[in-house]
Amino acid sequence: MSIHGKTPAYKLASRERHPEPTVVRVGKQAVGGGANTVIAGPCSVENREQIIQVAQQLKQYGATMLRGGAFKPRSSPYSFQGLGEEGLKYLAQARERTGLPIVSEVMDIEHLPMACDYIDVIQIGARNMQNYPLLRAVGRLKKPVLLKRGLSATIEEWLMSAEYILSEGNPNVILCERGIRTFETATRNTLDLNAVPVVKDLSHLPIIVDPSHGVGIARYVPAMSLAALAAGADGLILEVHPDPERAMSDGQQSLTPAEFNLLMQRIEKLTAPIAPEVAARSV
Ligand code: PEP
Ligand code: MN
Repeated sequence: MSIHGKTPAYKLASRERHPEPTVVRVGKQAVGGGANTVIAGPCSVENREQIIQVAQQLKQYGATMLRGGAFKPRSSPYSFQGLGEEGLKYLAQARERTGLPIVSEVMDIEHLPMACDYIDVIQIGARNMQNYPLLRAVGRLKKPVLLKRGLSATIEEWLMSAEYILSEGNPNVILCERGIRTFETATRNTLDLNAVPVVKDLSHLPIIVDPSHGVGIARYVPAMSLAALAAGADGLILEVHPDPERAMSDGQQSLTPAEFNLLMQRIEKLTAPIAPEVAARSV
């Protein structure tokens, strides 16, 4: 289990050293090991009503965790940057109402202690995949970390970033494929579903897929969500907004709650027959 026969430089992340798949516990939930995680929510937390209302719908339609950005890594410094701690407070209130654990991005080491009071899973965004001080800092925590693949990172570089977190003592790493930069311009990114079976082969860590950022266009998200699960992903992270046209970020790639509901029904049909086969092949 190596790339082109070379012994991988990552040790703790490698399948060779740890043949059993890692199962990351988030409260009562498990990520990996056959569980189908569906993290859903808006790109950004915009206000209290928005996040609480959408969380209640998502819970009803079968989401297992709630996402929402409070610290937003925007390409332009003039775009909405997120509500910061206020956004995290609204997320915690949404968790209180629904029981859904919270996934949210932290961009700055300085914010980690405060953010840990609210968040259940710390998201390291694609733009920070190689922010080594930040990786080391989350490695010193016990909280689960969702490590997104960098925009132009190879699978090996991504696993090396996971190694930074693991080597500091935090074993709770969940990988997230979110699309990479290619020459293609018809979609925002190219969702690299090759990464799912490759990562399963090279590593014991769970891997989930983000078709929202991977494709960038809402109408293509359901097809790629089903494809990701069929390829053996341990789950999905999806952007869902009550009114995508008015979203403060990433509206063009966000599903409506009704579209999410339909997708969940299709996922249920897909995963019933396919899960045992995928599970058998991924060990
Ligand atoms: C996000 O999840 O909203 C986000 C900014 O993701 P990424 O880091 O993958 O671009
Ligand atoms: Mn987004």
